[in-house]
This record gives sequence, C-alpha cells and structure tokens, in this order.
Amino acid sequence: MHDPTGTPSPETAYENTADEAWARQALDLYRRRQLQVKAFSAEGVISAQIWGTCPRCGHELNVQLTLSTPIPGLRGDRGLLAALTRRDGSPGVPDTVDIGCGCGHAHPGAPGHVTGCGVSFRLPTSPPDTLRPSR
Ligand SMILES: [Zn+2]
Ligand SMILES: [Zn+2]
Repeated sequence: MHDPTGTPSPETAYENTADEAWARQALDLYRRRQLQVKAFSAEGVISAQIWGTCPRCGHELNVQLTLSTPIPGLRGDRGLLAALTRRDGSPGVPDTVDIGCGCGHAHPGAPGHVTGCGVSFRLPTSPPDTLRPSR
C-alpha cells in the first residue's frame, strides 16, 4: 500500500533548527504572500501575528508574539519618540521578527508535548511590496 500521488513527506521530523535555508524559504513564501506578518504596537507593547505556510513542514501557522520594546535600555520620555519611530514610520515595530514554527502538529521526535517542527526563522515586518528586489 504505497501512495502513488507522491505526497511530500507528511511527517517532517522535529528539528530545532534556524538554518539560513529556512529563512530564505520563509522569505520566498513571504514574497508570495503565502506567509504573512502583521506587527503592531499598542501602548508600548509590540505584538506580531504571523500566519501562512511553515517553510519547513508546510503546515499552516498562526502564531502570535508579544515582543518587548526593541530598543534596549530605553528609559524615560526623552528620545522615546525618536527611538520608537523607525525609518518606515511605524512606531515601535521592529524591522524583523523571529518566529518559531507553531503549526500545532506534534512532529515525530519532538521533545515532550512540543508542537511545531522546531524551525525558527526571521521575517521582515514591512510588506513584501516595499522590499527591494535583490538583483
Ligand atoms: Zn513547521
Ligand atoms: Zn508542522
């Protein structure tokens, strides 16, 4: 009983990896809007939501992150606005976010009750349209 449709490995083994290859794959998905990021700040707390296809296991992701303030050592009011206003004009939102796979599936080899395939990668928070094509 083999599968003639050639379904790509349905059971990706868990691996704690942050290999650059996955980051590149993630960016590719991001450009095609199969993986999306929405980052926002409210009252100094920066959150991000990431949804779409995991670059490694291909499962559906829907991850919500709470990011701390991206500027280390930021204290008091002085310089707060300047520090939090990035060059793209979105206050407080970092240029990139680090995401771990949160597909909700238990992959073979995962420690304990950990879900997700273990991959982590970095994505830009700016829309794909604004990314300069690399050529
Ligand atoms: Zn995954
Ligand atoms: Zn998965």
